[in-house]
Amino acid sequence: MLELKNIYKSYQLSDNRQEVLKDINISFRKNEFVSILGPSGSGKTTLLNIIGGIDNYDSGDLIIDNISTTKYTNSNWDNYRNKKIGFVFQNYNLIDHLSIFDNVRLALTLSGLSKNEVYNKSVDALKSVGLIEHINKKPNQLSGGQMQRVAIARAIVKNPDIIVADEPTGALDSKTSAEIMKILKDISKNRLVIMVTHNQELAKEYSSRIVSIEDGKIINDSNPYKVINKDKNEISSNKSLKFITSLELSFKNLLTKRKRAILTSFACSIGIIGIALVLSITNGVNKYIKDVEVNSINDYPIIIERNTYDVFETVSLPRKKCENNKVCINDEKNGLIIKNNIKDFKNYIDINDKFKKYATNIVSSYDIDLNVYNKDYKKIDKDLFKELNFSDYSIVYGRKPKEYNEIVIVLDKNNYLSKDFLSYLNLDINKTHFTYNEIINNSFKLILNTDYYKKEENHYVDYSNNLEFIKNIVNSGVDLKIVGILNSEESMNSCIGYTEKLNKYLIDNISKTEIYRDQINSKKTNVTNNTNFDDFDNTYESLEKFLGVYEINNPSKISIYAKDYKSKEKIISLINEYNEKQTDKDKIKYNDMMKLLVDTLLNILNVISYVLIGFASISLVVSSIMISIITYISVLERTKEIGVLRAIGASKKDIKKIFNAETIIEGFLAGVIGIIITKFLSVFINLIVRNIIDIKNISILSINNIFSLIILSILVNLLSGLKPSITASNKNIVDAFRCD
Ligand code: ADP
Ligand code: MG
Repeated sequence: MLELKNIYKSYQLSDNRQEVLKDINISFRKNEFVSILGPSGSGKTTLLNIIGGIDNYDSGDLIIDNISTTKYTNSNWDNYRNKKIGFVFQNYNLIDHLSIFDNVRLALTLSGLSKNEVYNKSVDALKSVGLIEHINKKPNQLSGGQMQRVAIARAIVKNPDIIVADEPTGALDSKTSAEIMKILKDISKNRLVIMVTHNQELAKEYSSRIVSIEDGKIINDSNPYKVINKDKNEISSNKSLKFITSLELSFKNLLTKRKRAILTSFACSIGIIGIALVLSITNGVNKYIKDVEVNSINDYPIIIERNTYDVFETVSLPRKKCENNKVCINDEKNGLIIKNNIKDFKNYIDINDKFKKYATNIVSSYDIDLNVYNKDYKKIDKDLFKELNFSDYSIVYGRKPKEYNEIVIVLDKNNYLSKDFLSYLNLDINKTHFTYNEIINNSFKLILNTDYYKKEENHYVDYSNNLEFIKNIVNSGVDLKIVGILNSEESMNSCIGYTEKLNKYLIDNISKTEIYRDQINSKKTNVTNNTNFDDFDNTYESLEKFLGVYEINNPSKISIYAKDYKSKEKIISLINEYNEKQTDKDKIKYNDMMKLLVDTLLNILNVISYVLIGFASISLVVSSIMISIITYISVLERTKEIGVLRAIGASKKDIKKIFNAETIIEGFLAGVIGIIITKFLSVFINLIVRNIIDIKNISILSINNIFSLIILSILVNLLSGLKPSITASNKNIVDAFRCD
């Protein structure tokens, strides 16, 4: 069943080659107990290693089950060691971090047997060597004889055809040696046992055949054998280690070095913590900015103005500084101002119900100057007046306005009124509190834009700087009654609110005035100074504006207040839809200041977070170097284990799997530690930020982040451990054992 033909083996030394085996020819029977005797250095171990398939011969042939091994692949050799061979070594070669039971069980990891079968076979093997009561001990808790019995149990557990034992009693006293020999003799009843020894007495007493070897040659064989039966068998390839088994092996190994594993993982987690913190704070700030945008939807409408400008063009236009002592003419200005065809767009909004569906309010503003005076003929800042949709406001005092001549004072959400109102309302500017009645007991007077002009001879003269004239017209102006005080959750500033009806009233009344009709009739002539306009459209429009008489369907500004963030997006797509159907000239340009601001902030935030992640990655590089070193150390420490695994038939790939499993476990641990620490730090960061600037949850780590960071950690560790684990897998089996 086993035949060596003309086997030669030599080792390359630094300056010459040493021939260790010289033309070995020997065959073995299916069942016998062969002792190989010979002085130290005669080549016994080398011969045994070649028989066991852990070392290669230089020339000749090893014939296994009548098949030449000259064409054996690595996988065939792995399979041979796995299925046919059981090793027993002089120094036992048990794996220290595994229990006795696990050491034996290890030999079956590649067998493909079920868990139960593996358990039963391992227990049986340990029973047969009389060690069943020590099953959970670690190797260092046993005596030498006991350890060698574990090694024998490991060798026989998969029931191999051949047991090779290299000086199994070399380190044992004579009584224990006899016990071991008995066990070996016992197991040789139904298999081939080849034992190397230099103890002649033991060899003679227990074995059935003695082969003497000297200087690499067989010099005597007590019971030679010639192979007769020539049945051919199949060469078979090996099963590979299950990944879960390699994880288990590495996990048990890491458990024995718990402190180191945790420290390493902790150190590696620092890079992950850095990236996780940057990510989580970026998330938090991102969410905060978006929330601001969402919450401010009522304060920042989408605005379409008749005269608008492109914010980005304005920013990007190069403005050269004017030369000293010169006046420059700015001819870019007209390029910046964009005229919106707001009239057509308003018609479109009016007939398209979709806008109303997504908006809480669509407010059209007109450039009609409200000329309002208080009791002391003081003109009230016209920017304080706002045409409002009163449904969003709640009553603080009094009621909402109904008629054109009714107005309300609007407070901010905390019922504050801005200081400039005090002088208009004739209130003491040194006081800080007022009753509702003090506010409301006031009246204002409204006059028309056209009231400032008086016809003299053939043109209209502007009297807006004449105080006496103004007092007169104010006295005969329209009374504006303050009917209530309102506020709203969203309002940031106080203002004076009036109804749409007031606009209508103004337009109706202005269009009835003489000056207005005269201007319409005179067309190209300016009725205030009788000069001609050079550009009819432009100048007439500006005169109209000066007079405050835009038509009701041509507002200067449309503000669309979206219901919520989603609706805002819908409205914008409605505008885009509208634009697609228009010629370039009639396309509508809208402004969304909040979105612009938010987008700009988010862009800046992104850039900052990339830079920070870059910095944090430096520590990832450091930890990957560290992992590389630590895996390399682990490879050195586990050389014996690598040898044992290879001897029981694990392939190079399997060894790689084990070390990769180790780095994967460490990477996973580092990731988890990193996430836990980040979560912990986040609690503090959130607390501090909340106390200082009242922003909740500035540090948020999403589930996606957590998963990707753990995967990143595993990948970094796996990649940095790859080189050492390849080194491990390429280790020569014989060298692995020689290490001790
Ligand atoms: P034995 O087991 O009979 O004592 P070995 O088979 O271990 O002898 O060694 C035979 C000879 O081969 C010795 O001289 C040893 O130094 C040499 N030898 C064994 N392995 C190697 C190796 N890997 N490299 C170089 N020389 C080796
Ligand atoms: Mg030896």
